[in-house]
Amino acid sequence: MFENLSERLSGVFDRLTKQGALSEEDVKTALREVRVALLEADVSLTVARDFVKAVQDKATGQAVTKSITPGQQVVKIVHDALIDTLKGEGEPGALKIDNAPAPILMVGLQGSGKTTTTAKLAKRLKDRDGKRVLMASLDVNRPAAMEQLAILGVQIGVDTLPIVKGENPVQIAKRAKTQASMGGYDVYMLDTAGRLSIDEELMQQVEAVRDVANPRETLLVVDGLTGQDAVQTAENFNDRIGISGVVLTRMDGDGRGGAALSMRAVTGKPIKFVGLGEKMDALETFEPERIAGRILGMGDIVALVEKAQETIEAEQAEKMMKRMAKGQFNMNDLKMQLEQMLKMGGMQGMMGMMPGMGKMAKQVEDAGFDDKILKRQIALIQSMTKKERANPALLQASRKKRIAKGAGMEVSELNKLMKMHRQMGDMMKKMGKMGKGGMLKQAMK
Ligand code: GDP
Repeated sequence: MFENLSERLSGVFDRLTKQGALSEEDVKTALREVRVALLEADVSLTVARDFVKAVQDKATGQAVTKSITPGQQVVKIVHDALIDTLKGEGEPGALKIDNAPAPILMVGLQGSGKTTTTAKLAKRLKDRDGKRVLMASLDVNRPAAMEQLAILGVQIGVDTLPIVKGENPVQIAKRAKTQASMGGYDVYMLDTAGRLSIDEELMQQVEAVRDVANPRETLLVVDGLTGQDAVQTAENFNDRIGISGVVLTRMDGDGRGGAALSMRAVTGKPIKFVGLGEKMDALETFEPERIAGRILGMGDIVALVEKAQETIEAEQAEKMMKRMAKGQFNMNDLKMQLEQMLKMGGMQGMMGMMPGMGKMAKQVEDAGFDDKILKRQIALIQSMTKKERANPALLQASRKKRIAKGAGMEVSELNKLMKMHRQMGDMMKKMGKMGKGGMLKQAMK
């Protein structure tokens, strides 16, 4: 999927990555091409414009990481911006289905893959989450569609609501609710009728069903191959019905990834799943990282840049260590230290790695240090002014109160932090005096 966009961008970045240095004009040229590529991939005009602007703002003035080319850096920035745009809140593919029986409303145009997706999702909920699911078709105008769902139900071992001729969609939805409650189902899925295009009658029908079912999730199924039309459909359904998420189908074809990007930007609703084929298990959670990687097709460059940035962090840490050894250990250093600890698996993990500090790790553990405390301490330092961070001895009682309050904590916690800062400063000084082969050097390895 997304070949068009990634090929196009590959061309752009091929040229970029071959250059040693990148002027502002080069960045602009590159981003112009990114914009064209996005438009060709069916990203809507406004979304493409906003996206490029965000990237430009980020790229401009950003120092180029050592040991990579500016072009590679731009790739990384574009990649991160893609993820930002695509990302939804919470776990990918998470559904609000805790209160049984939870109704899920499936909406979308005819032929989008709605019925197939209903069954795929039911199977996923059953197999992965151990849910008892009931499916019901509300497509009273197309008996074949109702039959189709029943057949799929048998195939995947999920119950379907028996078909009763002459009922309208609202009546079926009510019956599904009753049956789901009485039958002890965790989830019931309502597969609404589709039309070839959006019309008033369809919208009214879906609204009426929504109002009786009060769905926990309203998932819009759209054909990922239809590009801009899919985005328009999503916008209409979202305005009228209010959707909670999108399922993009036919992403196994050579779909134009732009739809995913636009849809997310235009509706503000997350893409929760993608359909990757006709088979019942061809449904996956939507992973922004993976999709962004595929859109760019440049995972290796992204990894390279991440590596280079890590190296820079290590260099910064070494500089800090040197300063500390000289007894220059301020609150900024402590903050960096705490952040590093968080990354390295908390205080215990870090102490455990330092030679001769195994015992201390135990003490730290006994003292009840954990990630939560580290985060609180970082918050405290963040509440300080630049001057105070550089020289914490400046802090007077009133300021201490303000800072603690600003970070939502007690003054006693701030005092503890300051004590720790002093102790660490002393310790670092001692360790620094141990010379070249000293503990600090070893700990850096
Ligand atoms: P509905 O009218 O929206 O309910 O659409 P259907 O569920 O009947 O699907 C229409 C056709 O699309 C069927 O032949 C499905 O097998 C097919 N289909 C659905 N999802 C996908 C998908 O993710 N990939 C592919 N290749 N085909 C799909």
